[in-house]
Amino acid sequence: MNVYFIKDQDFNSFVAKMMESKKVVGPVTKKSKFVFAALEAPEQLRLDYDVTILPPKKEFFPTCQSLMKFQGNHCEGCINPEEKIILGVHFYDVKAIDMTDLLFREKNEDWNYLANREAATIIASNIQNVSSRAFFASVGKEVTPKGHDAFLTKLKSGYLFETLTAKGENLVKFGKFESASDGQKQEARSVNDVPLKKCAEALKHSSKEIAGKVRKSFANESFWNEAAKDCFSCGSCNIVCPTCYCFDVQDDWNLDQASGMRTRYWDGCLTEDFACISLGAGAVENFREHRGERFRHRIMRKAAYLNEKLGGPACVGCGRCSSACTPNIADPVNVINKLMEA
Ligand code: SF4
Ligand code: SF4
Repeated sequence: MNVYFIKDQDFNSFVAKMMESKKVVGPVTKKSKFVFAALEAPEQLRLDYDVTILPPKKEFFPTCQSLMKFQGNHCEGCINPEEKIILGVHFYDVKAIDMTDLLFREKNEDWNYLANREAATIIASNIQNVSSRAFFASVGKEVTPKGHDAFLTKLKSGYLFETLTAKGENLVKFGKFESASDGQKQEARSVNDVPLKKCAEALKHSSKEIAGKVRKSFANESFWNEAAKDCFSCGSCNIVCPTCYCFDVQDDWNLDQASGMRTRYWDGCLTEDFACISLGAGAVENFREHRGERFRHRIMRKAAYLNEKLGGPACVGCGRCSSACTPNIADPVNVINKLMEA
């Protein structure tokens, strides 16, 4: 749509005006790390963050989400989206949101997710600092982020603000914007190239080559068992991942035994009981009983199974799983590069 510029001294007032209009969520500090949280003041915003503990997906797909209240035979849905602006989303997280948008929309549309998603305006921002475990420059290069409404780039004396949708353009009224010059647009292109050269980790092969080799390695049990031998089955690598979307549904009954709430909770395929199914009469079957099978399943999902549907791998290279894994075995770069050489 349009490309604007706003001076540094006018930026906080722009954020403050957006906050007067609706809830604004952005990266803020939490001890030595960063999280997406509702802003209470523009000064809290940390657009220089490297990566957040949890991805912004939690704004549409909360860790615990009420789905339905029931009372006898009567039930009532809990969809009640809140309009919000999510400010400062890095491009790899936009790519992950694009994936969950597609997956929650295909076949049976999931309006518990989609209503929240449609009520959100996303302002992406350039990566000012690169996380030490990120590899976003070498993964899914064929996939372009598209779900954001505007893109903000920090320049020397202010910010370039590119609007991509009507929702993004609608934010311009909150700030003292002027049209961006060709020089400012060129500066923004250079600024956005920098983080791509700063990732310390990199995949050595294309998504297509990796998908083919990963699929072929399914039966290589010794590789997967060795890769997973220190796994605690804690599920942290799933929980922090922006492209994971599995959930568990539970009915919580009130004491009257007639009413209650149906709720969904994030779930993760690395946990021991994830693949347990009831066979009836108290019997249970776990179809991914061993750590190696669960570890393999996660890498298959990230690097091979969903590629056709998503147009690329289901990993965006944020590096959150690598940082969250206590025995330091979850990093897809280490696993995949080793597998490619095997
Ligand atoms: S698998 Fe790891 S690096 Fe890839 S998107 Fe998930 S958390 Fe990020
Ligand atoms: S790979 Fe690491 S983070 Fe994932 S379940 Fe195993 S120990 Fe936990």
